Amino acid sequence: MESAATVARARALSSALPRPLGFVPTMGALHEGHLELVRHARERCAAVLASIFVNPLQFAPNEDLATYPRDLNHDREKLAAAGVDALFQPDAPAMYPANFSTFVEVEPLGALFEGAQRPGHFRGVTTVIVKLLNILQPDVLFLGQKDAQQAVLLRKMIADLDFLVDVEIVPTVREPDGLARSSRNRYLDSTRRAEAVTLYQALCTTLRALEDGARKADALAAGAASLSPSAQLDYLEIVDAETFEPIEKFRPPAFVIGAARFGTTRLIDNLWVPLRPSIGSG
Ligand code: AMP
Repeated sequence: MESAATVARARALSSALPRPLGFVPTMGALHEGHLELVRHARERCAAVLASIFVNPLQFAPNEDLATYPRDLNHDREKLAAAGVDALFQPDAPAMYPANFSTFVEVEPLGALFEGAQRPGHFRGVTTVIVKLLNILQPDVLFLGQKDAQQAVLLRKMIADLDFLVDVEIVPTVREPDGLARSSRNRYLDSTRRAEAVTLYQALCTTLRALEDGARKADALAAGAASLSPSAQLDYLEIVDAETFEPIEKFRPPAFVIGAARFGTTRLIDNLWVPLRPSIGSG
């Protein structure tokens, strides 16, 4: 696996790879969720490029930028074993020189939910992805459904700004008990780990209640009641799959989304409810 740390070298590496070229952006501390994105990219594309960059622009001053897990040697091994052709691993000054002053925002989606909880977060995400797309010029961008709002927001940005890249959203990879794989799961001790699965359970309870015909308020209350009492719920909602606006009357396509804190660790998760063809049609 070739690698680049500078923008110039990354451009050169990328332009020499066969097409279609798949791109998997990450912040490292790689797990099965990331590798699933690579597998999808391998299947669909002739070459796969990954990036590892803990993007300071998407962390607020009170967040975990300094302590975010970093494991570059293992990450490189995992990417090489998964068949990644080239890795871009810039440092912050390579991406944001001292005079950097241009930012991209998606409104109003970027201000909802994760955007409201983490001011500036999505501005950091969209700005870094614009830079990465411009540097690497991939044909297909692979994103995880685990970060559904991020995926929907980036797909909107790509459409609005006419980027010539397809977006493929890959289903969430979970632990056997249902907890979504996340780099931040490393922060959980065994007590918190046992509690953390209740975020997934809260989403499942909410969705089951909705599918059984419960009113939204009752479904959300049932979901919230499945969350560990020691967790702090940031939000639990049912949103439109395109706009991420809350919907009052449940109907697919939608996401059931949730975020909660387990001690100092904040986790997010969601369930996607696709439009299903009605039985008997066609
Ligand atoms: P991150 O390193 O957290 O920025 O994530 C990089 C990419 O991996 C994003 O597109 C995430 O949505 C995706 N991802 C993270 N966790 C999972 C998971 N459990 N399943 C599928 N994709 C994931």
